[in-house]
Amino acid sequence: TVPLVKVRDLKMYFPIHAGLFRSHVGDVKAVDGVSFDIMPGETLGLVGESGCGKSTVGRAVLRLYDVTGGTIEIDGFEIAHVDRDSLRPKRPMMQMIFQDPQASLNPRMTVASIIGEPLDEHMKLSGEERLARIYELMDWVGLNREFAKRYPHEFSGGQRQRIGIARALALNPKFIVCDEPIAALDVSIQAQVVNLLEELQDRLDLTYLFISHDLSMVRHIADRVAVMYLGRIVEVASREKLFAEPLHPYTQALLSAVPEPDPESERHRKPIVLQGDVPSPANPPKGCNFSTRCPKVMDICKQQEPGVFDFGGGRQVACHLYAESMTKTAEPTGGDT
Ligand code: SF4
Ligand code: MG
Repeated sequence: TVPLVKVRDLKMYFPIHAGLFRSHVGDVKAVDGVSFDIMPGETLGLVGESGCGKSTVGRAVLRLYDVTGGTIEIDGFEIAHVDRDSLRPKRPMMQMIFQDPQASLNPRMTVASIIGEPLDEHMKLSGEERLARIYELMDWVGLNREFAKRYPHEFSGGQRQRIGIARALALNPKFIVCDEPIAALDVSIQAQVVNLLEELQDRLDLTYLFISHDLSMVRHIADRVAVMYLGRIVEVASREKLFAEPLHPYTQALLSAVPEPDPESERHRKPIVLQGDVPSPANPPKGCNFSTRCPKVMDICKQQEPGVFDFGGGRQVACHLYAESMTKTAEPTGGDT
């Protein structure tokens, strides 16, 4: 199988201007050389602490930003460096579900006009066809058709997220970036929305990039997981392998803080407390990004950026600890396929 999404060496730098003349004094390297594949129908979880660059990856991959470097291929089309006009016909196939449904829905538009807006922009439908499509989308996400003439403020957070999902589905996308889609919702309805996303994935053959800081949620929904630290992916693995045996010291620390669902069957993990703060992406450490906080840091780590080591079965780790046992690779792999 060919990956639906293929990202290579993605860089997203934001310039820093300072002084009287606002001169360019450096860059915030929010994303600094990120590569991954997502197979059709797959959910890739993208995890890391806030500020690690995961949301920037999500937006950059959909070309909501002009990217600094690298390539992004979606369904065979290179979109990283095409102009806005060439991008427009590709827009329908790639959509985003935002964290805060409140902020992403226009309060002055009815549910029908919110869901219908992308249809108006990209499709020529008769009034009848348009309404039928809006109703169909509302059915898919479990919204009562009688809500079509109401406004976002009349709904609960979970219902508003359903409106956002219906809107994202309007143009039959193949690929959806879900950026913390449940983080702003009550715990009691988070599972409902996640289950809805999974149901829709099966029904509509959707491929997801699922961005979240919530590892328990990612463990539930993702097929594979990529872990980010300070603008880079440090480890990618199937969900099973990642949670059973994290290899990168940062992944180990991150997972050590997650409660085990079944303490009987899995080995006991002591929380690993990391020293210091995450360095600034405007001034990342030399060598390995994690070297200022890594409990296993070696001399080489402060000099040389680690290569990416391939363990097979879709697992890759960027860490000098594995330099001797593994061969270095430049190509990300997409699962076991
Ligand atoms: Fe730690 Fe070195 Fe591995 Fe970086 S390369 S994670 S500093 S052991
Ligand atoms: Mg799935």
